[in-house]
Amino acid sequence: MITETTTTGMYEQLKALLADTVPDFELRIKAEVAAEINRLKAEKNAVILGHNYMEPALFHSIPDYVGDSLELSRKAAQTDKDIIVFCGVRFMAETAKILNPGKKVLLPSEKAGCSLAASITAADVRELRQKFPGVPVVTYINTYADVKAESDICCTSANAIAVVESLHTDTVIFIPDEYLAGNVARETGKKIIFPTREPVKNFETELDYQMIGWPGRCEVHEKFTVEDIRNVRKQFPDVVILAHPECSPEVVEASDFSAGTTAMIRYIERTKAPRYLLLTECSMGDNIAAANPEKEMLRLCSIRCPHMNQITLEDTLEALRKDQYQIVIDEVIRRRAYSSVERMLAIG
Ligand code: SF4
Repeated sequence: MITETTTTGMYEQLKALLADTVPDFELRIKAEVAAEINRLKAEKNAVILGHNYMEPALFHSIPDYVGDSLELSRKAAQTDKDIIVFCGVRFMAETAKILNPGKKVLLPSEKAGCSLAASITAADVRELRQKFPGVPVVTYINTYADVKAESDICCTSANAIAVVESLHTDTVIFIPDEYLAGNVARETGKKIIFPTREPVKNFETELDYQMIGWPGRCEVHEKFTVEDIRNVRKQFPDVVILAHPECSPEVVEASDFSAGTTAMIRYIERTKAPRYLLLTECSMGDNIAAANPEKEMLRLCSIRCPHMNQITLEDTLEALRKDQYQIVIDEVIRRRAYSSVERMLAIG
């Protein structure tokens, strides 16, 4: 946990980690803002949660906890602070509110959405349930509260397989990430279909598939291709390639390791591979490179999530100063969404 509240101290801390990544003049400006945030955070009894995809200066300066969706959900549920500032995207801040409704939850930017969360509505889930009666709905955590409320259980990329297997059913509806569903199907040996909005033929008689997906995609991870992997391997045959499960099943198949963001970080900390390549959001690559300076990270891209990118130190300071933007969820929806998230947390 970093709680530095002086500009000089913060600048020194950031410089030690990020001198190779962030220009010096920028580090000085960011250090001043970050130190002010930490002062205000203590004054207002707030906790700051920072997703692994936050830009390096923010990631290494103000969060009390950093991690993936699952880890941060747990921290949100446990905190006794008055205010939770979520440096991530809206569905994450909503999950914090679902789990800890008595707290004021702030999202520093109103524009921090997500292409996956936007791909499906509560009405879509109700329609799927009508088409496939009795089939349990597993919903990726990257969805809004009203979609979670229509679901039986949530999952993250870290626990998706365990959640699907915990249901002990022949068939599941797995929404909304088409690629994550494909990867879970691949790992669990299940067949998958993607229903259209038209009636699905014969579904009421005999199911010859075991997973029902939805055509949502992460606009960041869908950009990586098998061709990218081939080109890198040609140039660096000893590279270890890690792909996030929101990448296509073909990309995951062609990589060496696939798991959620925290498992990727642990892998890099332990690997003896001479160099590695991450197929995920690029700020996370910067954060890992800063924490593991002795290891060589190859850079394939500069694919930044436009939604995560909305969260800046400046906006976080404004959020704390003005108590904006507060997450509000209808209580009936929140309670139903809570059940789905709680079931997931019980699994791990
Ligand atoms: S990286 Fe993809 S899944 Fe994550 S917030 Fe951005 S668009 Fe959504």
